[in-house]
Amino acid sequence: MIEFACGIPHLLKGEFSENVGTGVDCHTLRQPVGVCAGITPFNFPVMVPLWMFPVAIACGNTFVLKPSEKVPSASVKMAELFKQAGLPDGVLNVVHGDKAAVDAILAHPGISAVSFVGSTPIAKYIYETCAHHGKRVQALGGAKNHAVVLPDADMEFTADALIGAAYGSAGERCMAISAVVAVGAAADPIVGLLKKKAGAIRIGPGTMEGADMGPLVSAVHRDKVKGYVDAGVKEGAKLVSDGRGHVVKGHENGFFLGTTLFDEVKPTMSIYRDEIFGPVLIVLRVKTLEEAIALVNSNPYANGVAIFTESGGAARRFENEIQVGMVGVNVPIPVPVAFYSFGGWKNSLFGDLHVHGAEGIKFYTRTKVVTTRWAHQDTPAPGFNMPTLG
Ligand code: NAD
Repeated sequence: MIEFACGIPHLLKGEFSENVGTGVDCHTLRQPVGVCAGITPFNFPVMVPLWMFPVAIACGNTFVLKPSEKVPSASVKMAELFKQAGLPDGVLNVVHGDKAAVDAILAHPGISAVSFVGSTPIAKYIYETCAHHGKRVQALGGAKNHAVVLPDADMEFTADALIGAAYGSAGERCMAISAVVAVGAAADPIVGLLKKKAGAIRIGPGTMEGADMGPLVSAVHRDKVKGYVDAGVKEGAKLVSDGRGHVVKGHENGFFLGTTLFDEVKPTMSIYRDEIFGPVLIVLRVKTLEEAIALVNSNPYANGVAIFTESGGAARRFENEIQVGMVGVNVPIPVPVAFYSFGGWKNSLFGDLHVHGAEGIKFYTRTKVVTTRWAHQDTPAPGFNMPTLG
């Protein structure tokens, strides 16, 4: 993100048209919007703020960052590094707090634009409140990311990809794969491999040599995730692996959960409908690619999605028809690199512009269009028509 923002002179170039009328030229400027604010979630306490403030500042704005109250220190560290690098005081500001701090930002008449990343209900609230106060806003919300597995996929490769995407960071990623849609004959082999590989994940603190998966962010969140596993069992899904009783020796009071895998999940169940944000992977079985696409497209979340197949035709059709903002073809977590833009559709993003890349530049700048004519040119004096008509 920093390297991308360092290329800003190239990215801020405007457009120029010569002779839009006789002796009349037209060009655009991209100018800063003023004071921008960023409100960020607990997960990715460095990456998510970096989606925002380097681009905003490079575009000429100043920035107020309100990180999650659960992870306050990373933002302070970044601000210290920027100060050390020579950024003048007042350009990047870190403000701590919860809803009270957020509401003060949203209502502040001096703040022109707000970038938000967090859960869907809060994203919607931020979008509506900013609109009420006349602010520019992009509000990224939660997710339920599907991976569609076709029978012709390389199953070993697919299972490895899905295991990392589902259980990495204990499932606390907005781009985590949380629902596998197994098409036809893909179901039995993929469930068998997922069960075996989920059971082999080493769980422990991040400081432990060889740990694959750490704890959840808090006891409250761990209990919420556990509650979803209870609900899945109650609602009749088939529990293939149960992470509820997992104990990490020497860390009995840690917020750990083991890996959970459900099969034969139905779209009406809460473990499918809701974002769980934990190490719980569910499998839904469908008969055809059409059915898989229809299922994904009827989900209200639309952040990321992936298809696993060896068929270029199926992948191309999927890419064209799927109603989701970020799509992976044999890539389980298709997070765009900095010079493309990141963002979902539907309940995963309120607003029109995604973060960073070309859309980030648009978000943090306003366009000015300048029309120019010079008197010493051999052109008639201005008349009463539109100047571009010459
Ligand atoms: P959250 O919505 O609880 O908090 C996000 C931010 O909003 C925090 O700074 C918090 O202080 C503030 N906030 C919380 N409640 C508020 C309220 N009532 N009024 C005003 N502000 C409030 O999210 P979280 O638990 O920190 O993060 C996890 C969520 O973020 C998940 O839903 C995840 O999918 C989502 N997320 C989305 C993306 C994305 O790019 N779409 C990326 C990362 C995380």
